[in-house]
Amino acid sequence: MSDKEITRNAVICGSGPAGWTAAIYLARAELKPLVIAGPQVGGQLTTTTTIENFPGFPEGRDGNQLMIDMEEQAKKYGAEVEYESCSGFEKDGDTFIVKYGNTSVRAHTILICTGSSARTLGIETEKTFWNYGVHTCAVCDGGFYRGKEVVIVGGGDSAMEEATYLAKLCTKVTVIHRRDELRASKIMAERALEHPKIEFEWNSTVEEVLGEVEGERKKRVTAVRLRNLKDDSRKELPTSAMFLAIGHTPNSGWLNGQVETGDSGYVVVDARQRTNLDGVFAAGDIHDHHYRQAITAAGYGCKAALEAERYLSQKGVIN
Ligand code: NAP
Repeated sequence: MSDKEITRNAVICGSGPAGWTAAIYLARAELKPLVIAGPQVGGQLTTTTTIENFPGFPEGRDGNQLMIDMEEQAKKYGAEVEYESCSGFEKDGDTFIVKYGNTSVRAHTILICTGSSARTLGIETEKTFWNYGVHTCAVCDGGFYRGKEVVIVGGGDSAMEEATYLAKLCTKVTVIHRRDELRASKIMAERALEHPKIEFEWNSTVEEVLGEVEGERKKRVTAVRLRNLKDDSRKELPTSAMFLAIGHTPNSGWLNGQVETGDSGYVVVDARQRTNLDGVFAAGDIHDHHYRQAITAAGYGCKAALEAERYLSQKGVIN
């Protein structure tokens, strides 16, 4: 029997902080988890620069390096990794068959840790300055723009929350919203609307990010070009950074509706990270659209691993 025909104790789909943390816990419990790393090994953190709010790194830690460290730690204790993407699963008796790449693996439990992806505007210059003035997380990257002027795109709760957060650090925050009415809840909208350091550009979209490029890692945003959707006029707004808060999309499409998701596609879990399917757990941004932090994702990954271990024990798969 090939190794792949053995029924695995746990298959972890996804390799962000939730997936690697689950892998570390399950590997240390000698359950030899298999991680199917997904299209972006390490997840969203690999596209950030320095992470200053992950405890234990007073000098900050490069996001990509943090994920490499987590992967190494999981492998050190016996986690195995396939550099493929989970594409679906089916229940077969008491076990699951998880499909990935051109193959599949049988498992007693599945941990869904496939995260979410921040929505982007889809303009070319957004890619040019990605992480060098264009960001999707104010709590993560706002500190780089202390004492500067920034813009934030979006009109929902995230945009208002992040604008209010950035206003503590920055001299001015301009919210750019495509309509003349906010989607955000009344209380969060009012907080931003009444804030002396927050201004609004209504009925506007960002057409282009402008800045200086002097090599791959030396880039600087200097302004955004706005288009007014009412009168089609353009104007340049000087800024040091553009934060996007136009929503996230959970990477749950591959589940094909086999586990319960809410309206926006986030997997529904209970307080013990259990989905509606016995033996299937979920952790991280795939279910959490509220906190979306590396440290909370890692915490959820830990919970899911401990619950999976308990499930395996209750089923008599392990002692
Ligand atoms: P959201 O509610 O979907 O809002 C997204 C915003 O981005 C909307 O204003 C939308 O404009 C705009 N937008 C979307 N696509 C765009 C595009 N291509 N170009 C320009 N603008 C675009 O997302 P969210 O703010 O991230 O919130 C997600 C969920 O989390 C919500 O349920 C929210 O209440 C919750 N949340 C709660 C808190 C809190 O309670 N503390 C904090 C954050 C988030 P339109 O308005 O025109 O559609």
